[in-house]
Amino acid sequence: MALIVQKFGGTSVANTERIFNVADIVTKTAAAGNQVVVVVSAQGDTTDDFIEKAGEITDRAPAREMDVLLSAGEQISMALLAMAIDKLGFHATSLTGWQAGIQTDLSYGAARIRKIEPRRIRSLLERKRIVIVAGFQGLNSHDSITTLGRGGSDTTAVAIAAALGADLCQIYTDVDGVYTADPRVVPGAKKLDEITYDEMLELATLGAQVLHNRSVEMAKKYNIDLEVISSLTRNPGTKVKEVTSVEKMMISGVACDKDVARIAVMGIPDEPGKAFRLFSLLSAHNINIDIILQSIGRDNTRDISFTVARGQLDETVKLIEENKERLHFTEWSSEAAIAKLSIVGAGMTSTPGVAAKMFEALSDAQVNIRMISTSEIKISVLINEEDAQRAMRAVHDKFFG
Ligand code: ASP
Ligand code: MG
Repeated sequence: MALIVQKFGGTSVANTERIFNVADIVTKTAAAGNQVVVVVSAQGDTTDDFIEKAGEITDRAPAREMDVLLSAGEQISMALLAMAIDKLGFHATSLTGWQAGIQTDLSYGAARIRKIEPRRIRSLLERKRIVIVAGFQGLNSHDSITTLGRGGSDTTAVAIAAALGADLCQIYTDVDGVYTADPRVVPGAKKLDEITYDEMLELATLGAQVLHNRSVEMAKKYNIDLEVISSLTRNPGTKVKEVTSVEKMMISGVACDKDVARIAVMGIPDEPGKAFRLFSLLSAHNINIDIILQSIGRDNTRDISFTVARGQLDETVKLIEENKERLHFTEWSSEAAIAKLSIVGAGMTSTPGVAAKMFEALSDAQVNIRMISTSEIKISVLINEEDAQRAMRAVHDKFFG
């Protein structure tokens, strides 16, 4: 007997037929003699619809009330699934995040799980019940409902798997697993049988929308065996683990993130402390900086370019304008129509020429590289957004074609 956590995303529970499909997967797993804890997302576009509804009332919804609203979607799914499972003749009990003992920090809209007190889940499992937990939500120390950020149900599932010491955490979704690139953009993309936590983490952070990146972080920390699998085809999915058993591929994937904006601050005096002043200002306002490039400007000055998430562009520009005197620059510019293309692979460290191969592909496709950044297992380039699709295909073809 194994203890298995199964998470089902929004498309997997989108309608009555899909809910019965999930009930079938869950009850088959239970009937095979396993203990099953199910984590569900809100049905289809429910969360987006709620955000829209709130927007009809106000564009300044109190963060606390926004979380009360958004958490309702998962509560609908869990009850409907419990009913479907009951109809199939099995016993299921649904629990909200707080009933399941999920405690978070205070930050509404992007809360982090602090601790899970799984007593109630355990006692239900001992009483041979299938336990269904609402994803994406918890309770903070003020006893208020919090949500974990968009896509956060994956993190709920992995956190519960860790708290229970589960044998396996399956993330059921509408794709067959993790691909070498988004198959909607790159027709030749291939499904990976296995991928390491580190590679998956990079891909998740770089815009491959398969798993919530915090869920991968947590899976790595607690060494949880993860599997990304389709609830619709039920084909074997992709296993995410510490080391893969197949020979390490040089590159495991190509990802493209369009949620990027670039800002350049020019004519900063070439003296110590200036970059510090700029970036400490931005960090004090919780603005996340990604790629940074510094270049020589005219007359003993330098230019600093960096990227932020597109949603933070306006705020960043406003801060820079407001602090013009303090920062001593002459001018600034910004652009939003750019994208970050990355290749990820644990095998990169031991293989020379990976960057050259990527740049060759981009050059052949006539794609201009604006900035470059590298880490041990990834290479990212900033390109114009209009080139994104062409660039992705060219780079993917070069490594996998
Ligand atoms: N329902 C939430 C969202 O759409 C959480 C999730 O799906 O994981 O972001
Ligand atoms: Mg969702």
